[in-house]
Amino acid sequence: MTADKIIALAEPALGEEEKEAVASVIESGWLTMGERVARFEREFAELHGAQNAVAVSSCTAALHLLLASLGLGPGDEVLVPSLTFVATVNAVCYVGAKPVFVDIERETEPHISLQDAAKKVTRHTRAVIVMHYGGYVIDMKEWRRFADERSLLLIEDAAHAPGAEGVGTLSDGAAFSFFTNKNMTTSEGGMALARDSETLERVRLLRSHGMTSTTMDREKGHAHGYNVTAVGYNYRLDELRASIGLTQIKRLPLWNERRRELTALYRGELEEIEGVDAPFAGWAKTAAHLMPVLLPPGADGRRVMSEMRNRGVQCSMHYPPVHLFSVYRKMFPAVSLPETERFCQRELTLPLHPGLADEDVATVAAALHESLQGEYHAERAQAGV
Ligand SMILES: *Cc1c(COP(=O)(O)O)cnc(C)c1O
Repeated sequence: MTADKIIALAEPALGEEEKEAVASVIESGWLTMGERVARFEREFAELHGAQNAVAVSSCTAALHLLLASLGLGPGDEVLVPSLTFVATVNAVCYVGAKPVFVDIERETEPHISLQDAAKKVTRHTRAVIVMHYGGYVIDMKEWRRFADERSLLLIEDAAHAPGAEGVGTLSDGAAFSFFTNKNMTTSEGGMALARDSETLERVRLLRSHGMTSTTMDREKGHAHGYNVTAVGYNYRLDELRASIGLTQIKRLPLWNERRRELTALYRGELEEIEGVDAPFAGWAKTAAHLMPVLLPPGADGRRVMSEMRNRGVQCSMHYPPVHLFSVYRKMFPAVSLPETERFCQRELTLPLHPGLADEDVATVAAALHESLQGEYHAERAQAGV
């Protein structure tokens, strides 16, 4: 079977609405920090049952500003998963705190482990960052209890889970991503939520150089000058991106629903393939951001991925463990996370986005079946059988 159409791993849903939205910003002549950013913040907060939100230039910026606003810094330890995108851990380093890597629960539930986290708490631990891997919402009540019992701050890297039930309100701060391959996009962009309004206002201040008023405030005559009360950053979101965000957020609930439908179809198909498992079976709350599968132990993931590619299916791996990247290896050479490492050796991510048709799921599953058979033959050839 040769493919004429590539089934992409992820694909942004963009069309006329986005074109019109961007054009209307250009016609308005007001390009950044205006009404659209403010409206996008209100609508995003509302969707998550939060009072308020702060739009920023990326999820990484949101994580950085939340950690800074919550007062984390040198001498503090922050518990982090290693099974995440590197930004989760980099943000801890930005504020001068020390990331402490925590293993996952198990292969079938690749969330940061409560038990391993408890073991790694020291008198320097100040916070824990949890990540809703693949959009599967971690048990926030349990983590709130874990944090409260130890007087720790609880932060969510919610890059995978915008619009999911139970995300963004039980933590001290939550960061979301609108990068191109996420459940909704602004091309680049992010959002911060925080349950304490003072923390959120601190995020707002630090987003724009620590300045006490915005250009818009001054334009409208709400303010005449400004003061700078903290060493801030430029992590602003512009009106063009906010306008895309406003069109996307309206459709996010439907898209998430479609992602869950496609996931259910995948789970049915995968049951037919021997040796392949899918994590989070029966998980109730999810934004279904990724479709991760576990290949049979010993299978060569890279070879399977290239076999899939030959069959017109783009796959990926989420994620290479952060503690094994050379920069973190140098900083923390002794870290070993057996469950995370085992998971990453077996994990393959299949295409999942609302633009997929039901038939595409069957095509991907068939390609996986064939690719694994190829894998079996390759192994036998190598062994000289
Ligand atoms: C995408 C992603 C980020 C970074 O998001 P940006 O908006 O690109 O900064 C952080 N954490 C996780 C888990 C992600 O998937």
